[in-house]
Amino acid sequence: MTVDPYARLGVRRRINAAGALTRLGGAVMAPEVVAAMAEAARASVDIGELQDAASTRIAAATGAEAGMVTTGAAAGLTLATAAAMARFDPARMAALPHADGFPRDILIPRTHRTGYAHALAAAGARLIDIGHNDRGTGAGVRGLEAWEIEAALSPLVAAFGFAANPTTMTDLPTVVAVCRPRGIPVIVDAAAQLPPKENLRRFIALGADLVVFSGGKALGGPQASGILAGRRDLVASALLQQLDMDVSPRTWIPPRLVDGANLRGVPHHGIGRGFKAGKEEIVGLLTALERFVDADVDRDNAALATRLDDIAMAIGDRRGLDVSLVPAQATGRVPVLELSIDPALAGTDAFDLSARLQAGDPPVHLSERHATRGVLTLDPQVLPPEADAPLAAAIRQALQASGANGR
Ligand SMILES: *Cc1c(COP(=O)(O)O)cnc(C)c1O
Repeated sequence: MTVDPYARLGVRRRINAAGALTRLGGAVMAPEVVAAMAEAARASVDIGELQDAASTRIAAATGAEAGMVTTGAAAGLTLATAAAMARFDPARMAALPHADGFPRDILIPRTHRTGYAHALAAAGARLIDIGHNDRGTGAGVRGLEAWEIEAALSPLVAAFGFAANPTTMTDLPTVVAVCRPRGIPVIVDAAAQLPPKENLRRFIALGADLVVFSGGKALGGPQASGILAGRRDLVASALLQQLDMDVSPRTWIPPRLVDGANLRGVPHHGIGRGFKAGKEEIVGLLTALERFVDADVDRDNAALATRLDDIAMAIGDRRGLDVSLVPAQATGRVPVLELSIDPALAGTDAFDLSARLQAGDPPVHLSERHATRGVLTLDPQVLPPEADAPLAAAIRQALQASGANGR
C-alpha cells in the first residue's frame, strides 16, 4: 500500500495551471519515468559509466558531441563556466571559484542579462556586460553587434554567456561568428526553450559550444535534473568537476568521456561536487528525454486545446472576464487560456484574483506572467486532466466571491 507522502507531512497538493515552475515542484513525471527511477534506485552502478551512457543518448537527441546529466539548468551553467575556465587543468579545477591568474571573464550582452547569470558567476567568473539594452527597454531597435563583442575581447575572456529566447536568437550567428574562430566557448542558457523539441538541436546546429536545458520543466524529468550538451572536451571537463573524486589515482577508471583527456593528474572534488546528479536523476532524465523526443506533439496539443475549451465553458460567462484560447502555434509551446480581467467590471484585478486562488482550498495557481496587463494565464503544461473540473470550479468561486456575477 502506498501512503501519500504529502498528506503524511501535512503538505497540501495544489492545482498547478501556472506551468512547470520550480517553486511549485517543476514537472509532473509520467508513470514510466517514475518507474524507471524507482528501479534505478535499487541497484549500485558506476556513476561515470552511467554518465557515459547519458552522453551517448544526449548526443543523439541534441546533435552535440557529448552530454551529461546535471542537477538542473542552473547547475549546468555553473559547470559550463567552470569547464570553460579550467579546461583540463586539475590545478585550475582545484582553484575554482578563485580564478586568479587565468581567464575568468564571461561576456554577456545586456539584452541577455537574466537572474540566472548568477549561476555563471558562481563558478568564480567575472561577468562583463556588453552592448546596450535598447531592445529590452524599448528605447530603440538595435541589438547586439559584432564590433561590441570584438571591443570587449581580451586574453582574460573565458566564454560568452548567451540567454536564448525567440527575441535574442537573432544574435546567435553574430556571436558564433566572432567567438568560434577565436576559440571562445559560447554557453547557451536554453533552460526553458522546450518545446518545440526542434530546439534540442537548434543551438548546437547554429554553433553553440555548450547548451543547457532544464529536466524538470517541459522535458518532464525529475525536478532536480537538467542537461548539459556540447563539445566533448568541455563536457568532459564539466563532468570531472561534478563527479565524486574520492578515488585512488592508481585504480581510478575514468569515464570514457574523460578518457584521453590531457590530464596531468587526477583532479580533486571540483566546484560541481555539490551538484551531484544521482543515479535516479540520470535514469529519470534519460527516460523523460526519450519520451519527449518520441511524443506526437500535434496530437498532444490538440488534446490540451480540447481540455482548455471545456475549462473555458465550465468557467462560463462572467462580468469583466474575457477568456480566450491561445493556440500552440501562437505561444510556440502549448496552448493556453488567457483570462483577461477588467477590474472596473469584475470587482477584482489579476493579482487579487491570483492571490485569492492561491489562498483557496485546494490552492490554485495560474501564471502571473502577464498579470501586469490584467491577464492571468491558464497554462496546462503540468495540469493533470482530473484537475480540470475542480480548477474551473475554483475560478468560478473566486470570481463570485469578488462580486462578479454571471451575466
Ligand atoms: C528555469 C531556468 C533556469 C534554471 O533551470 P533549473 O533547471 O531550474 O536549474 C535557468 N535559466 C532560465 C532562463 C530558466 O528559465
